[in-house]
Amino acid sequence: EVERLQVTFRKHTLFGGRRVVRAVNDVSLHIAPGETLGLVGESGSGKSTTGRAILKLVPIESGTVRIEGQDIASVRGKALRTIRSQMQMVFQDPYSSLDPSSTIGASISEPLRVHRAMTRAQMRERVEELLELVGLRPSHADRYPYEFSGGQRQRVVIARALALNPRLIVCDEAVSALDVSTQNQVINLLEDIREKLSLSYLFIAHDLAVVRHISHRVAVMYLGHIVESGPTQRLYQSPAHPYTQALLSAIPVPNPRKRDQARRMVLQGSIPDPSNPPSGCPFHTRCPYAMDVCGQSMPQMTPIDGGGEVACHLQTSGPTLGGRCLDELT
Ligand code: SF4
Ligand code: MG
Repeated sequence: EVERLQVTFRKHTLFGGRRVVRAVNDVSLHIAPGETLGLVGESGSGKSTTGRAILKLVPIESGTVRIEGQDIASVRGKALRTIRSQMQMVFQDPYSSLDPSSTIGASISEPLRVHRAMTRAQMRERVEELLELVGLRPSHADRYPYEFSGGQRQRVVIARALALNPRLIVCDEAVSALDVSTQNQVINLLEDIREKLSLSYLFIAHDLAVVRHISHRVAVMYLGHIVESGPTQRLYQSPAHPYTQALLSAIPVPNPRKRDQARRMVLQGSIPDPSNPPSGCPFHTRCPYAMDVCGQSMPQMTPIDGGGEVACHLQTSGPTLGGRCLDELT
């Protein structure tokens, strides 16, 4: 459970000035046991920083992160190590996340060596069990990373993340470096493992098509803010925030007949400088529906029909600026 999380980076510039970047701004989210929450947005939107802050890998300025009721900010020492072992991360690059000079078995058992008092035989048994869980052969433990394909290496990284029986895995672009058919295999594997172990995932990706298949709910980030969240089906079928609509309209439609019907929404400009964010709604500099109020006040998250929440003045400014107006504009 994440409540009002803020993460700020302070960087010194070449000319002696200071840039302050609020990378994560007032972010709240929750993930139930056994649930996958997708987190999407362009690069620089704060998705990875949110994931890292949850794992206490970057300093939290304010707000709280709780896992199974325990506030991660209040724990130190042994209790912190326990909490850390309950949350693991799987990164994008299966090439750099494994030590090329260590066997697969040594890499997978590394967290066991640090956190558990186990004999060599017990460790070997656990490694073989983990390899089977991710669809690899127990004998693969004695091989080296270069002997494996990208997809197999990512399976090894997943096995290592599972070694300590975590409750939550943050997958940060975990399948982005893989080709489409390998992506599907790894996603199916993650699904099977989640069901078997009733794990939770925070699944971070810029690719909305990938996120759709694995997530129960999805949250959309823009410039450090969550601008919309909701059940996957509702969010993909009737996105409420103009930014979500733009992201979805950029997904290629495979069926040419449907392509004509698909409404294209092209975003103007690029993501603003995060050290100098726009006033009011963070999206107003690129939003085709922006009104005067949008540059002046920050829209608050409000519940929407079909589930979830959205932060947009179109949803809250009364009937004349409701869904009807949105349809006319598109
Ligand atoms: Fe666009 Fe205004 Fe809604 Fe922001 S609040 S997304 S600028 S319409
Ligand atoms: Mg990232």
